[in-house]
Amino acid sequence: GEPEQVWARRPLLPLRMDPYADTLRRLREAFSTGRTRPAEFRAAQLKGLRRFLQENQQLLQEALAQDLHKSTFEAEVSEIRISESEIDLALRNLRSWMKDEKVPKNLATQLDSAFIRKEPFGLVLIIAPWNYPVNLTLVPLVGALAAGNCVVLKPSEFSRSTEKVLAEVLPRYLDQSCFAVVLGGPQETGQLLEHKFDYIFFTGSPRVGRIVMAAAAKHLTPLTLELGGKNPCYVDDDCDPQTVANRVAFFRYFNSGQTCVAPDYVLCSPDTQERLLPALQSAITRFYGDDPQSCPSLGRIISDKHFQRLRGLLGCGRVAIGGQSDESERYIAPTVLVDVQETEPVMQEEIFGPILPIMNVRSLDEAIDFINRREKPLALYAFSNSNQVVKRVLAQTSSGGFCGNDGFMHMTLASLPFGGVGASGMGSYHGKFSFDTFSHHRACLLRHPGLEKIYSIRYPPYSPRNLRM
Ligand code: NAD
Repeated sequence: GEPEQVWARRPLLPLRMDPYADTLRRLREAFSTGRTRPAEFRAAQLKGLRRFLQENQQLLQEALAQDLHKSTFEAEVSEIRISESEIDLALRNLRSWMKDEKVPKNLATQLDSAFIRKEPFGLVLIIAPWNYPVNLTLVPLVGALAAGNCVVLKPSEFSRSTEKVLAEVLPRYLDQSCFAVVLGGPQETGQLLEHKFDYIFFTGSPRVGRIVMAAAAKHLTPLTLELGGKNPCYVDDDCDPQTVANRVAFFRYFNSGQTCVAPDYVLCSPDTQERLLPALQSAITRFYGDDPQSCPSLGRIISDKHFQRLRGLLGCGRVAIGGQSDESERYIAPTVLVDVQETEPVMQEEIFGPILPIMNVRSLDEAIDFINRREKPLALYAFSNSNQVVKRVLAQTSSGGFCGNDGFMHMTLASLPFGGVGASGMGSYHGKFSFDTFSHHRACLLRHPGLEKIYSIRYPPYSPRNLRM
């Protein structure tokens, strides 16, 4: 008797416990009441989001400094202001974005009303990475809320301080019956993904993107994948090396290189490389001083694991600039590598750190071939004094976005869709594209209830007359 009794008394619940079921059920119930649909409700959520940013600016800046040693400037421009401007744009345009879109009609539907209705999907899951932990959670959230969805937000477990602010403070500014933050790493997110969502918006690596897409496939859930990859940066012989070096260095070392759209490697001729190296050295010294480690403008690597990976990459090719590292601070100096081989890890994996390899090519054609032999990147850059050269790179390659003669400025325009193509992702967002991403575009036709005499021409029994309708 004894053992059976013990067994019988052991509660079954913890074994099958699902930590997310209650939250998700609550959000679904809220959505089904229709409360997220009116423009007033959506605007109130967006205003709450704006107040969250305004009232917690200091807190967010501190969290970003703790997570990534992010400078106040970088936190302001690339995290807080960009989120605020997305909120303002959505608030200004909400009603016009929500309007039914009238579409052209054919002869048979002249008397009817044909339009596209933008309706919310329902329950949306947003999964975010750690490199811009405010921007990459809140900017998708703006689109999801503006479109009238209920939202589960899953921030990255690596940006711990920011994650904490998002989990503890943000929900106070939003309607908690329609919004929840869920925490955790791969295991928890995997468990979360077993549930059915109506839309999934994922930002992260192509490796995890595949896992998320497979989980979405089980429920036939549509999704956006904002992934990464290696962004080529072609530098033409016809250029001003110092101008190019300033721009490439700024965008490569911004956030200590942990940017999905950062120029990942330079493609140029050996001659241009010789002119670029002193110019890159000059830019790095002007930006970060003789001792970049003591410069408050330079970020740090997010975790020990990521630091070890990057330190390993410093062994590829030959260090031309920088190369120092300090494990205790997770510091990696702004580095330029030369003489790298295509087969080395630094040219195989996305770098995602302050390391810039230079690959030599003999011509523009060879550069274009090199780019086209690889996965389609999230961003592609071409620097040249010749417009024709820039336009040729644009015409003969493919990528999520493109910027001629600068770094990732194209993604600061909310009028441009931001997203990848091929292995760098699918779908896009920012500005109105976010609203459209998080809305189902429902095809609607409202016909006249009468006029049966005219309509009856289509019914069987068929005769040649049916074809005339
Ligand atoms: P990641 O793919 O490791 O993690 C992203 C998110 O997925 C995190 O929230 C994480 O908790 C979750 N996750 C991790 N493993 C998981 C698993 N097995 N199952 C389910 N969920 C899991 O990416 P990261 O390291 O946080 O970010 C770096 C990558 O993101 C780079 O490849 C970068 O290019 C890309 N990125 C892309 C964009 C973009 O807008 N396209 C922006 C930033 C970063």
